[in-house]
Amino acid sequence: MKSAKILIVDDDELNQVILTKTLTPKYQVHCVSSAAQMFTWLEDNTVDLILLDIIMPNMNGYDALKQLKHDERTQAIPVIIISANDSTDDEAKGLELGAMDYITKPFGSAIVRARVKNQLTIKQKNDLLEMLASIDGLTEIPNRRYFDEHFAREWRRSARAGLPLSILMIDIDFFKRYNDHYGHQKGDECLRRVAQALVNNCQRGSDFIARYGGEEFVAVLPGSEEQTAMALANKLCNVVRDLSITHIDSPVSDKVTVSIGATTLTDGGEDSCEMELVEKADKAMYKAKEQGRNGFAFYG
Ligand code: GH3
Ligand code: MG
Ligand code: MG
Repeated sequence: MKSAKILIVDDDELNQVILTKTLTPKYQVHCVSSAAQMFTWLEDNTVDLILLDIIMPNMNGYDALKQLKHDERTQAIPVIIISANDSTDDEAKGLELGAMDYITKPFGSAIVRARVKNQLTIKQKNDLLEMLASIDGLTEIPNRRYFDEHFAREWRRSARAGLPLSILMIDIDFFKRYNDHYGHQKGDECLRRVAQALVNNCQRGSDFIARYGGEEFVAVLPGSEEQTAMALANKLCNVVRDLSITHIDSPVSDKVTVSIGATTLTDGGEDSCEMELVEKADKAMYKAKEQGRNGFAFYG
């Protein structure tokens, strides 16, 4: 397993040196000297734990902590305060603001190491729980819960930045008949193969595929215009067909096929919430079904 990343935020250079010496080489350590530098670092880097000083010029540690906990991108990062403020009131304030632990200066190396290890163990377990709660057990791709969170975030980001965002609703054709003919277990296997094929062919960095429910999948494509979305929809129809999973009871093909509905949020679009976009993709998907399945349609 890769070693955990720890960010030390302390304006005192000597403290930075001692803490770094205490925590390396077991962990990857990076030091910054102010709250402002911390926020800049966090824009481009992930960290597993922050060691935060309280008394610092410009923004103090309490205010920095408040801001960390306010931002959804940083609120899950555990913070240990390391401060010369040693009153119980100070400690209580830090913990109430969301710090996981509080170490007073001067500190002993063994205490720092032990408390850091405890927080990293908790973080690791939380990450694992988060991951298990986000992955669909059957297909091993992101589940509906993960999609809801991810999509709401991407929708807000795109709407704010005036960037396009496309989504695809992908539904297996005549899947009830597939189950009825081949049995539920074969049905499960088919779902797994289709899911993996979709994920493997939707690989632009920011693209995201989830199991929306039953035999339905959804793709979120940030930055993709209508043309790109339709090209991908077309490609995914072919990809599933090319899996050549025999479906002799399907009226539209002798293989398993999908119908895909696509729609795009464009700059200045009147969609007022992310669910409207899902509804449009759903309508497009039903249009694809009406048009004979085994193909895609766009809702503009
Ligand atoms: P259409 O082409 O109109 O989409 O028809 P369809 O038969 O695919 O659609 P319908 O919604 O009638 O049936 C969906 C089927 O998907 C019914 C259900 O048993 C099956 N299904 C949903 N989830 C699972 C699953 O986890 N495993 C298996 N094996 N089947 C599933
Ligand atoms: Mg179906
Ligand atoms: Mg369906």
